[in-house]
Amino acid sequence: MTGREDDRARRLADLDARTIIHPHSVIGAPAEPLVLDRGEGAVVWDVQGKPYIDGTCGLWQCPVGHGRPELAEAAAEQMAKLEFYSSFGDYSNEPSIRLAERLLELAPPNMRRVFFTNGGSEGNETAIKLARLAHHHAGRPERFVILARTGGYHGMGGGSLAATGIDRLRAGYGPLMPGIEFLAKPHAMRGADVTDALVAELEERIERVGADRIAAFVGEPVLGVGGMVPPPADYWPRVQEVLRRHDILLILDEVVTAFGRIGHWFGCERYGIEPDIIVTAKGLSSGYIPMGAVLAGERVLDLADGASFLHGFTYNGHPVGAAVALANIGILEREGLLGRADRLGRRLLDALKPLERLDHVLEVRGVGMMLGVELDPAANAAGVQAAARADGVIVRASGDTIVLSPPLVIDEQQLDTLARVLTKHVAAA
Ligand code: PLP
Repeated sequence: MTGREDDRARRLADLDARTIIHPHSVIGAPAEPLVLDRGEGAVVWDVQGKPYIDGTCGLWQCPVGHGRPELAEAAAEQMAKLEFYSSFGDYSNEPSIRLAERLLELAPPNMRRVFFTNGGSEGNETAIKLARLAHHHAGRPERFVILARTGGYHGMGGGSLAATGIDRLRAGYGPLMPGIEFLAKPHAMRGADVTDALVAELEERIERVGADRIAAFVGEPVLGVGGMVPPPADYWPRVQEVLRRHDILLILDEVVTAFGRIGHWFGCERYGIEPDIIVTAKGLSSGYIPMGAVLAGERVLDLADGASFLHGFTYNGHPVGAAVALANIGILEREGLLGRADRLGRRLLDALKPLERLDHVLEVRGVGMMLGVELDPAANAAGVQAAARADGVIVRASGDTIVLSPPLVIDEQQLDTLARVLTKHVAAA
Protein backbone atom coordinates (compact mmCIF):
# COMPACT_ATOMS: atom_id res chain seq x y z
CA MET A 1 0.00 0.00 0.00
CA THR A 2 1.42 3.44 -0.88
CA GLY A 3 1.34 6.46 1.45
CA ARG A 4 -1.07 8.07 -1.03
CA GLU A 5 -3.57 5.19 -0.81
CA ASP A 6 -3.27 5.23 2.94
CA ASP A 7 -3.99 8.95 2.95
CA ARG A 8 -7.00 8.58 0.64
CA ALA A 9 -8.39 5.77 2.80
CA ARG A 10 -8.03 7.84 5.97
CA ARG A 11 -9.64 10.91 4.40
CA LEU A 12 -12.59 8.89 3.09
CA ALA A 13 -13.11 7.20 6.47
CA ASP A 14 -13.03 10.58 8.27
CA LEU A 15 -15.42 12.14 5.78
CA ASP A 16 -17.76 9.15 6.04
CA ALA A 17 -17.79 9.41 9.83
CA ARG A 18 -18.69 13.11 9.62
CA THR A 19 -21.35 12.90 6.92
CA ILE A 20 -23.23 9.60 6.82
CA ILE A 21 -25.75 7.97 9.14
CA HIS A 22 -25.26 4.27 8.43
CA PRO A 23 -28.07 1.74 8.75
CA HIS A 24 -27.57 -0.23 11.94
CA SER A 25 -25.08 2.18 13.48
CA VAL A 26 -24.91 4.22 16.66
CA ILE A 27 -25.65 7.87 15.86
CA GLY A 28 -22.69 10.08 16.79
CA ALA A 29 -20.45 7.20 17.86
CA PRO A 30 -16.87 7.13 16.53
CA ALA A 31 -16.76 4.85 13.49
CA GLU A 32 -14.09 3.22 11.40
CA PRO A 33 -15.85 2.23 8.21
CA LEU A 34 -14.38 -0.31 5.86
CA VAL A 35 -14.45 1.63 2.61
CA LEU A 36 -14.82 -0.83 -0.25
CA ASP A 37 -13.63 -0.10 -3.72
CA ARG A 38 -14.21 -3.03 -6.04
CA GLY A 39 -15.25 -6.66 -6.19
CA GLU A 40 -14.85 -9.78 -8.28
CA GLY A 41 -16.49 -13.15 -7.69
CA ALA A 42 -16.43 -13.84 -3.94
CA VAL A 43 -13.80 -11.19 -3.14
CA VAL A 44 -14.07 -7.46 -2.42
CA TRP A 45 -11.17 -5.04 -2.03
CA ASP A 46 -11.01 -1.98 0.18
CA VAL A 47 -9.62 1.38 -0.95
CA GLN A 48 -6.20 0.40 0.31
CA GLY A 49 -6.20 -2.64 -1.95
CA LYS A 50 -6.71 -5.24 0.80
CA PRO A 51 -8.83 -8.24 -0.32
CA TYR A 52 -11.63 -9.82 1.74
CA ILE A 53 -13.44 -13.08 1.13
CA ASP A 54 -17.11 -12.17 1.14
CA GLY A 55 -18.72 -14.68 3.49
CA THR A 56 -22.06 -12.88 3.59
CA CYS A 57 -22.64 -11.71 0.03
CA GLY A 58 -23.04 -8.23 1.51
CA LEU A 59 -26.51 -8.70 2.94
CA TRP A 60 -27.35 -11.95 1.09
CA GLN A 61 -27.92 -10.07 -2.10
CA CYS A 62 -25.33 -11.32 -4.53
CA PRO A 63 -25.63 -14.97 -5.67
CA VAL A 64 -23.78 -14.36 -8.98
CA GLY A 65 -20.84 -12.69 -7.24
CA HIS A 66 -19.28 -9.29 -7.66
CA GLY A 67 -17.97 -7.53 -10.76
CA ARG A 68 -20.12 -9.05 -13.50
CA PRO A 69 -19.68 -6.95 -16.67
CA GLU A 70 -22.88 -8.42 -18.24
CA LEU A 71 -24.97 -6.79 -15.52
CA ALA A 72 -23.27 -3.42 -15.94
CA GLU A 73 -23.86 -3.67 -19.69
CA ALA A 74 -27.54 -4.58 -19.26
CA ALA A 75 -27.99 -1.50 -17.03
CA ALA A 76 -26.09 0.84 -19.35
CA GLU A 77 -27.95 -0.34 -22.42
CA GLN A 78 -31.35 0.14 -20.83
CA MET A 79 -30.39 3.45 -19.23
CA ALA A 80 -29.32 4.83 -22.61
CA LYS A 81 -32.62 3.72 -24.18
CA LEU A 82 -35.19 4.59 -21.51
CA GLU A 83 -33.82 5.30 -18.06
CA PHE A 84 -37.15 5.27 -16.29
CA TYR A 85 -40.80 5.96 -16.58
CA SER A 86 -43.38 5.45 -13.86
CA SER A 87 -45.43 2.24 -13.95
CA PHE A 88 -48.42 3.75 -12.16
CA GLY A 89 -51.76 3.01 -13.73
CA ASP A 90 -51.53 2.19 -17.41
CA TYR A 91 -47.85 2.89 -18.14
CA SER A 92 -45.39 0.07 -18.66
CA ASN A 93 -42.03 -0.83 -20.16
CA GLU A 94 -40.67 -3.87 -21.95
CA PRO A 95 -38.03 -5.05 -19.41
CA SER A 96 -40.60 -5.26 -16.61
CA ILE A 97 -43.10 -7.06 -18.83
CA ARG A 98 -40.42 -9.59 -19.84
CA LEU A 99 -39.25 -9.99 -16.23
CA ALA A 100 -42.79 -10.61 -14.96
CA GLU A 101 -43.24 -13.27 -17.64
CA ARG A 102 -39.92 -14.92 -16.68
CA LEU A 103 -40.68 -14.90 -12.96
CA LEU A 104 -44.07 -16.50 -13.52
CA GLU A 105 -42.41 -19.22 -15.61
CA LEU A 106 -40.00 -19.99 -12.76
CA ALA A 107 -42.51 -19.68 -9.90
CA PRO A 108 -44.93 -22.31 -8.54
CA PRO A 109 -47.86 -22.86 -10.94
CA ASN A 110 -50.43 -21.02 -8.77
CA MET A 111 -48.63 -17.68 -9.21
CA ARG A 112 -50.38 -15.29 -11.60
CA ARG A 113 -49.13 -11.69 -11.34
CA VAL A 114 -46.11 -9.65 -10.29
CA PHE A 115 -45.90 -6.34 -8.41
CA PHE A 116 -42.42 -4.81 -8.61
CA THR A 117 -40.73 -3.01 -5.70
CA ASN A 118 -37.32 -1.60 -4.82
CA GLY A 119 -36.52 -4.07 -2.05
CA GLY A 120 -37.71 -6.45 0.63
CA SER A 121 -39.36 -4.05 3.06
CA GLU A 122 -41.50 -2.56 0.32
CA GLY A 123 -42.30 -6.10 -0.77
CA ASN A 124 -43.62 -7.08 2.64
CA GLU A 125 -45.54 -3.80 3.01
CA THR A 126 -47.12 -4.65 -0.33
CA ALA A 127 -47.89 -8.26 0.62
CA ILE A 128 -49.50 -7.33 3.93
CA LYS A 129 -51.60 -4.59 2.33
CA LEU A 130 -52.61 -6.84 -0.57
CA ALA A 131 -53.68 -9.64 1.79
CA ARG A 132 -55.72 -7.24 3.93
CA LEU A 133 -57.25 -5.54 0.90
CA ALA A 134 -58.17 -8.88 -0.65
CA HIS A 135 -60.26 -9.89 2.37
CA HIS A 136 -61.69 -6.38 2.70
CA HIS A 137 -62.74 -6.38 -0.92
CA ALA A 138 -64.28 -9.84 -0.54
CA GLY A 139 -66.59 -8.42 2.15
CA ARG A 140 -64.56 -9.47 5.20
CA PRO A 141 -62.98 -6.22 6.45
CA GLU A 142 -62.55 -7.66 9.96
CA ARG A 143 -59.99 -10.13 8.60
CA PHE A 144 -56.88 -7.97 9.07
CA VAL A 145 -54.76 -9.78 11.69
CA ILE A 146 -51.34 -10.96 10.49
CA LEU A 147 -49.72 -14.01 12.10
CA ALA A 148 -45.93 -13.68 12.28
CA ARG A 149 -43.12 -15.44 14.14
CA THR A 150 -40.68 -14.60 16.89
CA GLY A 151 -37.27 -14.27 15.24
CA GLY A 152 -38.83 -13.40 11.86
CA TYR A 153 -37.43 -10.44 9.92
CA HIS A 154 -39.50 -8.69 7.29
CA GLY A 155 -38.03 -5.21 7.01
CA MET A 156 -38.02 -1.72 8.40
CA GLY A 157 -41.29 -0.15 7.20
CA GLY A 158 -44.48 0.36 9.20
CA GLY A 159 -46.02 -3.05 8.54
CA SER A 160 -42.84 -5.02 7.83
CA LEU A 161 -41.23 -3.93 11.11
CA ALA A 162 -44.45 -4.61 13.01
CA ALA A 163 -44.31 -8.18 11.66
CA THR A 164 -40.62 -8.52 12.59
CA GLY A 165 -40.27 -10.56 15.77
CA ILE A 166 -36.88 -9.33 16.96
CA ASP A 167 -37.19 -7.10 20.01
CA ARG A 168 -33.94 -5.21 19.60
CA LEU A 169 -35.12 -3.95 16.20
CA ARG A 170 -38.54 -2.79 17.42
CA ALA A 171 -37.53 -0.79 20.48
CA GLY A 172 -37.73 2.99 20.57
CA TYR A 173 -40.15 3.75 17.76
CA GLY A 174 -43.39 4.06 19.68
CA PRO A 175 -46.47 2.03 18.79
CA LEU A 176 -46.06 -0.08 15.67
CA MET A 177 -48.85 -1.17 13.32
CA PRO A 178 -51.49 -3.05 15.34
CA GLY A 179 -53.00 -6.40 14.39
CA ILE A 180 -49.91 -8.62 14.50
CA GLU A 181 -49.87 -11.90 16.49
CA PHE A 182 -46.54 -13.59 17.13
CA LEU A 183 -46.03 -17.35 17.18
CA ALA A 184 -42.96 -19.29 18.34
CA LYS A 185 -39.72 -19.57 16.40
CA PRO A 186 -39.57 -22.85 14.43
CA HIS A 187 -36.39 -24.70 15.13
CA ALA A 188 -35.46 -27.91 13.33
CA MET A 189 -32.96 -29.20 15.79
CA ARG A 190 -34.40 -28.68 19.20
CA GLY A 191 -36.82 -31.34 20.34
CA ALA A 192 -38.32 -34.26 18.42
CA ASP A 193 -41.95 -33.11 18.52
CA VAL A 194 -41.25 -29.56 17.56
CA THR A 195 -43.59 -29.50 14.54
CA ASP A 196 -46.46 -30.95 16.57
CA ALA A 197 -45.95 -28.24 19.17
CA LEU A 198 -45.74 -25.46 16.59
CA VAL A 199 -48.83 -26.65 14.72
CA ALA A 200 -50.75 -26.99 17.98
CA GLU A 201 -49.76 -23.43 18.90
CA LEU A 202 -50.94 -22.21 15.49
CA GLU A 203 -54.30 -23.98 15.86
CA GLU A 204 -54.79 -22.62 19.38
CA ARG A 205 -53.96 -19.08 18.30
CA ILE A 206 -56.38 -19.24 15.37
CA GLU A 207 -59.03 -20.50 17.76
CA ARG A 208 -58.32 -17.71 20.27
CA VAL A 209 -58.08 -14.83 17.76
CA GLY A 210 -60.80 -16.22 15.49
CA ALA A 211 -60.06 -17.37 11.94
CA ASP A 212 -62.57 -14.79 10.72
CA ARG A 213 -60.24 -12.02 11.93
CA ILE A 214 -57.01 -13.32 10.37
CA ALA A 215 -55.86 -12.15 6.94
CA ALA A 216 -52.52 -13.90 6.52
CA PHE A 217 -49.53 -15.67 8.00
CA VAL A 218 -46.11 -14.25 7.08
CA GLY A 219 -42.83 -16.15 7.41
CA GLU A 220 -39.43 -16.76 5.88
CA PRO A 221 -38.86 -20.35 4.64
CA VAL A 222 -35.62 -20.32 6.68
CA LEU A 223 -35.21 -17.60 9.31
CA GLY A 224 -32.32 -15.39 8.20
CA VAL A 225 -31.61 -12.36 10.38
CA GLY A 226 -33.23 -14.32 13.23
CA GLY A 227 -30.23 -16.69 13.19
CA MET A 228 -30.28 -18.92 10.07
CA VAL A 229 -32.84 -21.32 11.48
CA PRO A 230 -34.08 -24.04 9.11
CA PRO A 231 -37.54 -25.39 9.99
CA PRO A 232 -38.27 -29.08 10.49
CA ALA A 233 -38.93 -30.73 7.09
CA ASP A 234 -42.66 -31.19 7.78
CA TYR A 235 -43.23 -27.71 9.27
CA TRP A 236 -44.28 -25.78 6.15
CA PRO A 237 -46.63 -28.38 4.59
CA ARG A 238 -48.41 -28.76 7.92
CA VAL A 239 -48.66 -25.02 8.49
CA GLN A 240 -50.00 -24.58 4.97
CA GLU A 241 -52.66 -27.23 5.57
CA VAL A 242 -53.92 -25.45 8.70
CA LEU A 243 -53.94 -22.05 6.99
CA ARG A 244 -55.86 -23.35 3.97
CA ARG A 245 -58.42 -24.99 6.22
CA HIS A 246 -59.08 -21.61 7.84
CA ASP A 247 -58.91 -19.52 4.66
CA ILE A 248 -55.83 -17.67 5.88
CA LEU A 249 -53.42 -16.51 3.16
CA LEU A 250 -49.75 -17.54 3.29
CA ILE A 251 -47.19 -14.84 2.56
CA LEU A 252 -43.76 -16.38 2.10
CA ASP A 253 -40.94 -13.87 2.56
CA GLU A 254 -38.32 -15.16 0.13
CA VAL A 255 -36.22 -12.02 0.13
CA VAL A 256 -33.21 -14.14 1.11
CA THR A 257 -34.16 -17.67 0.03
CA ALA A 258 -35.19 -17.12 -3.60
CA PHE A 259 -32.80 -17.24 -6.57
CA GLY A 260 -30.62 -20.10 -5.50
CA ARG A 261 -29.63 -19.49 -1.90
CA ILE A 262 -31.20 -22.76 -0.77
CA GLY A 263 -30.81 -24.50 -4.12
CA HIS A 264 -34.04 -23.54 -5.91
CA TRP A 265 -35.48 -20.57 -7.75
CA PHE A 266 -37.89 -20.22 -4.83
CA GLY A 267 -37.38 -21.73 -1.38
CA CYS A 268 -41.01 -22.90 -1.26
CA GLU A 269 -40.05 -25.61 -3.79
CA ARG A 270 -37.65 -27.09 -1.25
CA TYR A 271 -40.42 -27.37 1.33
CA GLY A 272 -43.14 -28.51 -1.08
CA ILE A 273 -45.59 -25.65 -0.54
CA GLU A 274 -47.48 -23.18 -2.72
CA PRO A 275 -47.79 -19.85 -0.93
CA ASP A 276 -50.41 -17.26 -1.88
CA ILE A 277 -47.91 -14.41 -2.05
CA ILE A 278 -44.12 -14.62 -2.49
CA VAL A 279 -41.93 -11.65 -1.63
CA THR A 280 -38.50 -11.42 -3.31
CA ALA A 281 -35.67 -8.90 -3.68
CA LYS A 282 -31.88 -9.19 -3.16
CA GLY A 283 -30.91 -12.17 -5.36
CA LEU A 284 -33.39 -11.04 -8.02
CA SER A 285 -30.87 -8.47 -9.29
CA SER A 286 -27.91 -9.78 -7.24
CA GLY A 287 -27.99 -6.32 -5.65
CA TYR A 288 -26.46 -4.64 -8.69
CA ILE A 289 -29.44 -2.31 -8.53
CA PRO A 290 -32.31 -2.14 -6.02
CA MET A 291 -35.09 -4.39 -7.26
CA GLY A 292 -37.78 -6.55 -5.74
CA ALA A 293 -40.85 -8.45 -6.89
CA VAL A 294 -44.00 -9.61 -5.12
CA LEU A 295 -45.68 -12.57 -6.78
CA ALA A 296 -49.40 -12.93 -6.23
CA GLY A 297 -51.19 -16.27 -6.50
CA GLU A 298 -54.65 -17.11 -7.75
CA ARG A 299 -56.37 -17.28 -4.34
CA VAL A 300 -55.42 -13.74 -3.34
CA LEU A 301 -56.13 -12.40 -6.82
CA ASP A 302 -59.58 -14.01 -6.87
CA LEU A 303 -60.41 -12.34 -3.56
CA ALA A 304 -59.02 -8.98 -4.71
CA ASP A 305 -60.51 -9.10 -8.20
CA GLY A 306 -61.88 -5.63 -8.98
CA ALA A 307 -60.32 -3.94 -5.91
CA SER A 308 -58.70 -0.55 -6.25
CA PHE A 309 -55.06 -1.07 -5.21
CA LEU A 310 -53.99 2.49 -4.41
CA HIS A 311 -50.49 1.48 -3.48
CA GLY A 312 -47.14 2.03 -5.14
CA PHE A 313 -43.71 3.63 -4.97
CA THR A 314 -42.21 5.98 -7.53
CA TYR A 315 -39.64 3.51 -8.85
CA ASN A 316 -41.86 0.38 -9.13
CA GLY A 317 -41.20 -1.50 -12.34
CA HIS A 318 -37.92 0.29 -12.97
CA PRO A 319 -36.80 -0.67 -16.49
CA VAL A 320 -33.09 -0.62 -15.56
CA GLY A 321 -33.73 -2.82 -12.51
CA ALA A 322 -35.79 -5.20 -14.62
CA ALA A 323 -33.13 -5.38 -17.34
CA VAL A 324 -30.47 -6.19 -14.73
CA ALA A 325 -32.72 -8.79 -13.07
CA LEU A 326 -33.32 -10.53 -16.41
CA ALA A 327 -29.57 -10.65 -17.10
CA ASN A 328 -28.94 -11.90 -13.54
CA ILE A 329 -31.48 -14.72 -13.92
CA GLY A 330 -29.74 -15.56 -17.20
CA ILE A 331 -26.39 -15.95 -15.38
CA LEU A 332 -27.89 -18.08 -12.59
CA GLU A 333 -29.38 -20.37 -15.20
CA ARG A 334 -26.46 -20.51 -17.66
CA GLU A 335 -23.87 -21.19 -14.99
CA GLY A 336 -26.01 -23.70 -13.10
CA LEU A 337 -25.46 -21.77 -9.87
CA LEU A 338 -28.56 -23.11 -8.09
CA GLY A 339 -26.96 -26.54 -8.11
CA ARG A 340 -23.95 -25.28 -6.15
CA ALA A 341 -25.80 -24.18 -3.03
CA ASP A 342 -26.28 -27.58 -1.40
CA ARG A 343 -22.86 -28.96 -2.36
CA LEU A 344 -20.86 -25.97 -1.16
CA GLY A 345 -23.13 -25.34 1.81
CA ARG A 346 -22.59 -28.93 2.97
CA ARG A 347 -18.80 -28.52 2.63
CA LEU A 348 -18.89 -25.36 4.76
CA LEU A 349 -21.23 -26.93 7.31
CA ASP A 350 -18.96 -29.99 7.64
CA ALA A 351 -15.93 -27.75 8.09
CA LEU A 352 -17.61 -25.72 10.84
CA LYS A 353 -19.51 -28.49 12.65
CA PRO A 354 -16.54 -29.41 14.92
CA LEU A 355 -16.98 -25.98 16.55
CA GLU A 356 -19.97 -27.48 18.39
CA ARG A 357 -17.46 -29.21 20.68
CA LEU A 358 -16.64 -25.83 22.20
CA ASP A 359 -18.64 -24.91 25.29
CA HIS A 360 -19.48 -21.44 24.01
CA VAL A 361 -20.79 -22.69 20.64
CA LEU A 362 -24.45 -23.65 20.99
CA GLU A 363 -25.06 -24.87 17.46
CA VAL A 364 -23.73 -24.89 13.91
CA ARG A 365 -26.60 -25.22 11.42
CA GLY A 366 -27.64 -24.43 7.90
CA VAL A 367 -29.47 -25.25 4.71
CA GLY A 368 -28.03 -24.61 1.25
CA MET A 369 -25.80 -21.56 1.43
CA MET A 370 -27.43 -20.17 4.58
CA LEU A 371 -25.41 -21.10 7.64
CA GLY A 372 -25.23 -19.95 11.23
CA VAL A 373 -22.85 -20.49 14.13
CA GLU A 374 -24.78 -19.69 17.29
CA LEU A 375 -22.65 -18.59 20.22
CA ASP A 376 -23.46 -18.42 23.88
CA PRO A 377 -24.72 -14.88 24.58
CA ALA A 378 -21.75 -14.41 26.92
CA ALA A 379 -19.34 -14.94 24.00
CA ASN A 380 -18.55 -11.99 21.81
CA ALA A 381 -20.14 -12.50 18.38
CA ALA A 382 -19.40 -8.90 17.32
CA GLY A 383 -15.75 -9.48 18.28
CA VAL A 384 -15.61 -12.54 16.01
CA GLN A 385 -16.94 -10.44 13.15
CA ALA A 386 -14.27 -7.76 13.74
CA ALA A 387 -11.40 -10.23 14.15
CA ALA A 388 -12.33 -12.18 11.01
CA ARG A 389 -12.51 -8.94 9.06
CA ALA A 390 -9.05 -7.93 10.20
CA ASP A 391 -7.97 -11.34 8.88
CA GLY A 392 -9.53 -10.76 5.45
CA VAL A 393 -12.86 -12.57 5.86
CA ILE A 394 -16.27 -10.89 6.05
CA VAL A 395 -18.88 -12.58 8.25
CA ARG A 396 -21.74 -11.00 10.17
CA ALA A 397 -22.93 -11.21 13.73
CA SER A 398 -26.73 -11.24 13.83
CA GLY A 399 -27.46 -11.18 17.54
CA ASP A 400 -25.48 -14.10 18.96
CA THR A 401 -25.27 -15.96 15.66
CA ILE A 402 -22.49 -15.58 13.10
CA VAL A 403 -24.35 -15.72 9.82
CA LEU A 404 -22.80 -16.94 6.58
CA SER A 405 -24.17 -16.73 3.05
CA PRO A 406 -21.35 -16.56 0.52
CA PRO A 407 -21.98 -15.89 -3.17
CA LEU A 408 -22.82 -19.09 -5.06
CA VAL A 409 -19.73 -18.57 -7.23
CA ILE A 410 -17.32 -18.95 -4.30
CA ASP A 411 -14.72 -21.68 -4.98
CA GLU A 412 -13.67 -24.54 -2.68
CA GLN A 413 -10.40 -22.92 -1.71
CA GLN A 414 -12.05 -19.66 -0.72
CA LEU A 415 -14.68 -21.59 1.19
CA ASP A 416 -12.02 -23.52 3.10
CA THR A 417 -10.16 -20.30 3.95
CA LEU A 418 -13.41 -18.81 5.20
CA ALA A 419 -14.01 -21.85 7.43
CA ARG A 420 -10.44 -21.85 8.74
CA VAL A 421 -10.39 -18.14 9.63
CA LEU A 422 -13.83 -18.30 11.23
CA THR A 423 -12.91 -21.40 13.24
CA LYS A 424 -9.84 -19.63 14.59
CA HIS A 425 -11.77 -16.58 15.76
CA VAL A 426 -14.78 -18.47 17.11
CA ALA A 427 -12.42 -20.68 19.12
CA ALA A 428 -10.85 -17.54 20.60
CA ALA A 429 -14.18 -15.81 21.34
N1 PLP B 1 -37.21 -9.86 4.46
C1 PLP B 1 -36.13 -10.57 4.74
C2 PLP B 1 -36.26 -12.04 4.98
C3 PLP B 1 -34.87 -9.96 4.82
O1 PLP B 1 -33.79 -10.67 5.16
C4 PLP B 1 -34.78 -8.58 4.55
C5 PLP B 1 -33.48 -7.89 4.61
O2 PLP B 1 -32.48 -8.45 5.04
C6 PLP B 1 -35.94 -7.87 4.27
C7 PLP B 1 -37.14 -8.54 4.21
C8 PLP B 1 -35.90 -6.40 4.04
O3 PLP B 1 -35.39 -6.12 2.79
P1 PLP B 1 -34.83 -4.66 2.44
O4 PLP B 1 -33.69 -4.43 3.36
O5 PLP B 1 -34.45 -4.80 0.98
O6 PLP B 1 -35.92 -3.70 2.63
